[in-house]
Amino acid sequence: MLVVKIGGGGGINYDNVCEDLVRIGKNQKLVVVHGGHAKRDQLARQLGLEIPVVTSQSGVTSVYTTPELLEVFLMAYAGLINKKLVAKLQKLGLNAIGLCGVDGRLFEGRRKNAIYVRDGSKIKLLKDDLSGKVESINLKLLELLLQHNMVPVVCPPAISFEGDIINVDGDSIACLLAKELKAERLVFLIEAPGFLRHHQDETSVIERIPRSEIESFINFAVGRMKRKILSIQDALLSGVKEVFIADGRSEEPITKALQGAGTLFF
Ligand code: ADP
Repeated sequence: MLVVKIGGGGGINYDNVCEDLVRIGKNQKLVVVHGGHAKRDQLARQLGLEIPVVTSQSGVTSVYTTPELLEVFLMAYAGLINKKLVAKLQKLGLNAIGLCGVDGRLFEGRRKNAIYVRDGSKIKLLKDDLSGKVESINLKLLELLLQHNMVPVVCPPAISFEGDIINVDGDSIACLLAKELKAERLVFLIEAPGFLRHHQDETSVIERIPRSEIESFINFAVGRMKRKILSIQDALLSGVKEVFIADGRSEEPITKALQGAGTLFF
């Protein structure tokens, strides 16, 4: 079992990724997770909406999800990107099926009612954020699809235990899926050739990071990358054997990642 998380950046080459998924899907079971932040930001701009970003007390940034933004989120992730990816894979002969976390309660979680955020030197309490954290996965639903040789293509948002739609982090979903599906390997495709020592220097790829040494590399991560590395650390601690970060802009990005391009966390 292989889990592939396709990043949400505008530079991801979906044609290359899909062709590679089709090749790989012939020999092994696959689950695909995708992001969509670039499309979300583009739609929000077109609709004249602001995307408020907040920084937690520990320095991790995230989007503050208003009701209007949640709609944009649905349009970008569960709508445009999910359906276009599924169509592309279907065209290439892979029986992909697209679901977001709301469908069949695929990803269930708890809504954050209030979050503490940094505002300069002050700490503020923010309420009414429509985001949360996934706590459980509808494994039976995924297994049913996999048993019928379908390839689930899944994405945020998720559903709360009360039945409300909540914005959640796609990287955590990918890690939780890999753990629950007992996947040996998890690949993250991003807009960089791997995890970089200097985030703007594409020649500074770190090739291998043992799980016991992740802490000492975390400071190389800038912005959202920090959360990705923390999720990867979690996934390795919960049984995933190898996690790769590789270039979603390149040809055969997954095949090359598994052959050693990019960064391997083990
Ligand atoms: P996703 O594409 O999965 O949504 P993010 O945008 O959240 O991923 O994180 C990936 C991005 O993080 C990269 O495209 C890169 O711009 C940035 N980044 C920050 N620090 C690093 C680093 N040390 N190595 C590689 N990329 C980094």
